Amino acid sequence: MSVNRTARVASLLLGLALAAASQAAPLVSRLTPPSNPLTPTAEVLSRFLPGQKFDLQATLQPDAGTRITSVVFAVDDKPVATLKNDGSDADQFSANTSLVKTGLVKGLKPGTVVASVRGYGQAKPGVHRLTVTAEDSSGTQSTRMGNFEVVAIQAKNGQPAKNIIILLGDGMGAAHRTAARIMAKGYLQGKAQDRLAMDTLPVTGMVMTSSLNAIVTDSAPGMANYVTGNKGANNQEGVFPDDTTAAFDNPRIEYLSEYLHRLKGTALGLVTTADVFDATPAANAVHTASRGMGTGIVDQYLDDRHLTGLKVLMGGGRKWFLPNPSNETKPQAVNGSQRRDSSDYVLPADIVKGWNATPGALDSGRDLIGDFQAAGYAYAPDRETLDKLGTPDKLLGLFAYSNMNVAYDKVNGRRGKSTVVADYGFPDQPMLDEMADTALRVLSKGNAKGFVLMVEGASIDKQSHLMDTDRWILETLEFDRAVQLAKDYADAHPDTVVIVTADHECSGAAIIGAATVGDAALRATAATAAEKRDKVVGTYEKSKFPEYSILADGYPATTDIDHKLLIGYGANADRFEAWVANPQPTQDDQQPFVGQAPLNTYPANPGVRNNSSGYLVTGQVPGTQAVHTATDVPLSATGRGAHLFTGVFDNTDVFFKLGQLAIGGAR
Ligand SMILES: [Zn+2]
Repeated sequence: MSVNRTARVASLLLGLALAAASQAAPLVSRLTPPSNPLTPTAEVLSRFLPGQKFDLQATLQPDAGTRITSVVFAVDDKPVATLKNDGSDADQFSANTSLVKTGLVKGLKPGTVVASVRGYGQAKPGVHRLTVTAEDSSGTQSTRMGNFEVVAIQAKNGQPAKNIIILLGDGMGAAHRTAARIMAKGYLQGKAQDRLAMDTLPVTGMVMTSSLNAIVTDSAPGMANYVTGNKGANNQEGVFPDDTTAAFDNPRIEYLSEYLHRLKGTALGLVTTADVFDATPAANAVHTASRGMGTGIVDQYLDDRHLTGLKVLMGGGRKWFLPNPSNETKPQAVNGSQRRDSSDYVLPADIVKGWNATPGALDSGRDLIGDFQAAGYAYAPDRETLDKLGTPDKLLGLFAYSNMNVAYDKVNGRRGKSTVVADYGFPDQPMLDEMADTALRVLSKGNAKGFVLMVEGASIDKQSHLMDTDRWILETLEFDRAVQLAKDYADAHPDTVVIVTADHECSGAAIIGAATVGDAALRATAATAAEKRDKVVGTYEKSKFPEYSILADGYPATTDIDHKLLIGYGANADRFEAWVANPQPTQDDQQPFVGQAPLNTYPANPGVRNNSSGYLVTGQVPGTQAVHTATDVPLSATGRGAHLFTGVFDNTDVFFKLGQLAIGGAR
């Protein structure tokens, strides 16, 4: 441990001790950004790029019989802001600061205030001491100390990366990549006959994925940690936790998209196979403590495009964009709209001021597609329109009410072998690589200032949750076709860096072997473990190399081959395993019309799916779905500065590598 670090930790511990020792004094129960004074060998918890904006916040609880009278934030002992409390019950806002006294979580002392300074930034590299001092009406003071670090960018360190492409295979662990390779490329005498596009990227590392408050992350901080440089809490996007109940007032952290747009004028593109309100796309552009606030999330994409540079938004999620003027709260409005005032946003004045953000409004009746079009975005509701639009300046594509259909069903629909996409009401949905191709074209048009493009293969995760093996393997193949496009783009544009990774692993998928029998024999076995497990599952030398036949569209003719690949799940709920492809996907409760025919005839969940043809595999997690795991995930990279992405690193480290590349460059 360095002397510097020892001294810093000692001073932090002293600060905590002082706060704890003073009995009759205000309690500073939270100081944001969060600090980690107790693990001296660990890195400073909260780290920022030079000038990257974030909010300072403290929760101050007065002793009985007193009230908080003033709060002073200081950095390196220099006051940043002084907030005076006039004793009224009303919340006080002035410019970019606030003292919030109402709408707080339960369990705080009467008179508690949450004090904020919005849109702070620090240009000077190094570790900085953050102090908050609260005084109460008896004249007693309490001080709590924390710290944060500004990570230097090495200037003139070679050429900067103008464009950043992040390909995010949601839930994609090593097993997902291996299974896709075995299916698409084949193995012969132990050797892969070819490689996935993501296998051919020259650099690979391993990423630690935990969130601020859990070993196992969900997709919200799983993505946000990559593009804020800080640990977020589960279900939260681009914010730190706080002690208020409102979802859109949490302390913000500036996103990579916002930072680079402010500094360099970069554009942002978001492409996903999920509903566009989903955690991964939203955690690049929207600040909220609740990933479920769909109306506010999609509104903020448009409202704060001046902060993010949003130019392309594509995926599912039309249900959030269709007007619902009566704020109807039945399961869905007649038109499929899910817009509700209860999931919308209005920002407090200090955030509006400190971040130059749009205030927002409770407007379930908003025609958001119309508003996007009025703001200059071309709109594509299906693949045919997407093709006809050519290369517009800005683009909105919404190809389903909620999550788009998965590759397995889109491909079989195109081959005339399945009606699933028609059952959903969206028979002409683009593939992920088709969306990514369009996004790259739009972002490249007049691209003087560069772009950040995030492309998500969302249902690698969603189908892993459902333990639908055939569907998530095809999702991974679809995702890999988008990887190939990005790789080709970086080859043609050497000022581009491409990373391919996941936000977390999902389901604990494992390649356990191959079927010892053919498809017909497999289907003929009884639905018992003695038959369908003991006589079917080939392990070790009984797991021969499966041979899938790949058609010109890039996908297998069928996944139900003889001696097929078999997958087990280490993070599973109860399921019935029949080892054969499910002709219908499992119900997606995000779809507004899931309760109506024909979608209500689909299997409800893996706990009932195949219950007459499969044998029961008892899970070790409650519920009906497999869960995320804390296992490290692979990250592969190519293009300018890709060599930075080797070794084992934290998800927040990725942000600083990308910042170095975008601003300072790399040799
Ligand atoms: Zn998930």
